[in-house]
Amino acid sequence: MTTNDLPITQANQKVRPHPTQNEALLFEKSSPGKRAYKLPPLDVPAVDAKAMLGAAHRDTPGLLPEISEIEIIRHFTRLSTWNYAIDLGMYPLGSCTMKYNPRVNEFVSRIEGLAEAHPYRPESHAQGILEIIDLLQRCLLEITGMDAITLQPAAGAHGEFTGILLTRAWHESQGNPRGKILIPDSAHGTNPATAAICGYAVENIKSNSDGGIDLDALARQVDSETAALMLTNPSTLGVFESQIHKIADILHAKGALLYMDGANMNALVGKVRPGDFGVDVMHLNLHKTFSTPHGGGGPGSGPVACKAFLEPFLPTPVLVRKKGAKGRGAREAGGEGIESGALHWDYNRPHSVGRVRAFYGNTGMFIRALAYILANGPDGLRQTTEDAVLNANYIRSKLEDLYDLPYSTPSMHEAVFSDKRQLVHGVKTGDIAKRLIDYGFHPYTVSFPLIVHGALMIEPTESESLEELNLFIGAMRSIAREAEETPDLVKSAPHSTRVSRLDEVQAARQPVLRWRPAK
Ligand SMILES: *Cc1c(COP(=O)(O)O)cnc(C)c1O
Repeated sequence: MTTNDLPITQANQKVRPHPTQNEALLFEKSSPGKRAYKLPPLDVPAVDAKAMLGAAHRDTPGLLPEISEIEIIRHFTRLSTWNYAIDLGMYPLGSCTMKYNPRVNEFVSRIEGLAEAHPYRPESHAQGILEIIDLLQRCLLEITGMDAITLQPAAGAHGEFTGILLTRAWHESQGNPRGKILIPDSAHGTNPATAAICGYAVENIKSNSDGGIDLDALARQVDSETAALMLTNPSTLGVFESQIHKIADILHAKGALLYMDGANMNALVGKVRPGDFGVDVMHLNLHKTFSTPHGGGGPGSGPVACKAFLEPFLPTPVLVRKKGAKGRGAREAGGEGIESGALHWDYNRPHSVGRVRAFYGNTGMFIRALAYILANGPDGLRQTTEDAVLNANYIRSKLEDLYDLPYSTPSMHEAVFSDKRQLVHGVKTGDIAKRLIDYGFHPYTVSFPLIVHGALMIEPTESESLEELNLFIGAMRSIAREAEETPDLVKSAPHSTRVSRLDEVQAARQPVLRWRPAK
C-alpha cells in the first residue's frame, strides 16, 4: 500500500477532543471562602490599613476569584495543553520555517555566565561573550558569502529596514538617495512596508509564468531613480530565482543595488552563497533558519550582511579586534585596559546610519544560533538544507494529484498549492486549514503569497520524520476527500476546539479584553 492510500484510523489520527476542552475561567470556578493558602492566626497587632493608605484604601475588596491550590494548578496546566507548539507536532506554516529548536541551544544559552552577562559589563570582563558574537558573525559571513555584518536588528522586518537604510546612506554618499525601490508581486508584505518607511516609492514587478522575474521587463524598469530591488530568494512561491546573477548585473549597470530577503535561507545554507551571485545586502532570520525560537514578535534576530562598500554605514557599535597579536599582553593607550587581540565595540563611525537597537541585539538568540551552527557543522548544515527541500518535495509529490499546483517550477523548501479544485465544492483554503486543526496539525499559511489565489503554502522543514510527514499527508488527503463528499464538515471546522470559527476581523478591530460577571 502506498502512503496515498493510508486510511485515516484511530491510530494515525493524532489528536482527538481533549477531556478538558471546556475549561472555565477562574472567575467562573470561584466560590466564596475558598483559599489557596493557609496562614496561622495573626499574633502581632493589626495595622490600621485605612490610616496608612488614606484615599487609596478601598472599602470593598476587589472581585478576585476564590479558589483552591489544586484548582489553580489544574487550570493552568490544562490551559498549557491547549497551546500548539513545535514540541507537540508539525508546524507547516510556509515562509516561517517553524523548525524544531534543539535542546542543546537552550542548554548553552542558560549557562550562568552567558545568561547573566550584563550589557554594561566592561569590555575587558566580557571577552567570552564578545568572542561568541564574533564567531557567530564570522560563521554567518561564511554562510552568506558577504563581507560585513551587524547583528543588531531584532527581526527580519527590522533587518530589511536596516538594510535599506544602508542602501539609502550609500546612495546619498554618491550624491543622490534616488526615489524608488522595485519589488516583485511575490514579495513578503514586509518588503514594500520597509521601502515605504525608508522614504522610497514602491514599484511593482510582475512575475513570469515560472514565478521568476521577467528580465526584459526588469531592464526596462530599472533607471537612474531606482535605489534597489528587494528580492526574496527562493521566492515566496518556494521557487529559486535561477537568473539572479543576471538580475544583479542589470541593477548594477544602472547603479542600483540588489537587496535579498534571506528569510528563506533554509533552502540555501551550505549549497549557494548570496554573496557569490551578486547580492549587495541581505538579512537573515536567526529565528527561522538558525533554529532560535519565534518569540510571538519578541526575541527574534535579523542580522544584516553586506558587501564591503556598505560597511562604513553599518549601525554603531561595530565589533572590532584590537590590532596586534593576541596574548602579547600589550595594553594600548586609551583602550580602557583592552589588550591587543581583544574585542571591543567601535562607536567612532562617522558614516554610520546610527543605532537600530538597544545594546548589541538579542544576545540570547546569538548563542542559540551559534550552538546550532557548531552542533551541525558544515556538512550537517548542508544536510539540513537538503532534508528541508526533500521534505517539501515529498509533500508536493504526495498531494499534487488532489490539490492544484499553480507553478510547476521545481520546489525548494516549501510547496505552494491553491484551493482551485476544492472551490468547486465551496471549500476554500481557510476551511481546509481549519479542518487540519481537527487532525492535530497547526494550519499551513493561508492565502499567501498573494499572487496565488486561495494559496496553501506548506513548509515542513527538515525537522519532520517520514512518519510525521505521512500523518500530515494522510490528513490533507482525507480533507480533500471530505471536501468532495461532505463539504459542510470542512466548511464548519474546527470541531474539536473549545471555540470554532472566530470572526477574525472583528477580533482584531474590537478586541474584548475584559471579562464581566453575569448580573
Ligand atoms: C518572515 C519573513 C520576513 C519577516 O521576518 P520577521 O522576523 O517576521 O520580521 C520577511 N520576509 C520573508 C520572506 C519572511 O518569510
